[in-house]
Amino acid sequence: MDKHIRHYVSGPSPTGRVQVELDWARRFDHMQQHTGQHLLTAVAQERFCWHTTAFHLAAQVSDIELDVAAIPPEKLAELEEDVAAEIRAARPVTARRVSPETFATLPVRTRGLPEGHRGDIRLVEIAGVDLNTCGGTHVRSTAEIEALKLLGAEAMRGGTRLRFVAGGRLRHLLRMHEERNAQLRQVLGASDDELVVQATTKLEQLKDAQRRIRALEEELAVEAARSLAAGAHAVASAHFPQRDPAFLQRVAREFVQLAPHGVALLTAGDAEAGHFVLCAGSEATLDLTAAGREVAATLNGRGGGAGRVFQGKAGALSRREEALAFLRGLG
Ligand SMILES: [Zn+2]
Repeated sequence: MDKHIRHYVSGPSPTGRVQVELDWARRFDHMQQHTGQHLLTAVAQERFCWHTTAFHLAAQVSDIELDVAAIPPEKLAELEEDVAAEIRAARPVTARRVSPETFATLPVRTRGLPEGHRGDIRLVEIAGVDLNTCGGTHVRSTAEIEALKLLGAEAMRGGTRLRFVAGGRLRHLLRMHEERNAQLRQVLGASDDELVVQATTKLEQLKDAQRRIRALEEELAVEAARSLAAGAHAVASAHFPQRDPAFLQRVAREFVQLAPHGVALLTAGDAEAGHFVLCAGSEATLDLTAAGREVAATLNGRGGGAGRVFQGKAGALSRREEALAFLRGLG
């Protein structure tokens, strides 16, 4: 039997005596998740005839893949209860080495061995529950798993992926949930039981408010277009500090209908930067694309046109008057 322990390091290693430090928190966490997986796999197989085809130990949530297409929630609850019972039973977990001859006579759950394996085989046993080949690290008793929680099941490749956490991770996860719930309670001003109802109500109210804002903006755009079309200016203009490009387009569409001969320069934005729309009615003589490019250049922006509307971004809204003067000069 090979009595050496091999450590693989990422860089050049010193020769002679070295001190190796074990990250015990990480090791024990892995022992809990991994032994939890042994137990979960064994119970799923023995009590439910679901066979584990894969196991992933991840940094936060681990999973096993079972060869069953769909598992109803009540069956998952039963599986979780049965695993909990085996944890409470504090069954000893032991490792031993056996010869290939002995191995052949034992009721081992999975018989697969690494390619080219020779000599003794390491078995890990959960007393009364499971006997399996494994080279991993395990807790001494199922009691040391503390608890195992199934987090959810998803269908995949004809099987089911079952996510779980065990031991310290379960407490950590619950602490995270509690902290998040505390924040949500504060934000929504509701108790845990009312959080979902309250969040749903708030979202409905938000949707309703957005619908009303859209309707009001529509009315406002039509009114603004009417007022501009009725004005005496050869080139109408208006600035809307709080509006977006969609609002400017809405005003422009309405304006070109109401004023076939009219031209309007519309801008929106809070400070220097914002948006502009140049529009012209169907009877207007303005070369919209050429004029639009000039306006864009004057406003230190860029844009493009389609139909009777040229729109773009503006980097210097303070030069609006200059752009207007240019447009008036064209008439
Ligand atoms: Zn193992």
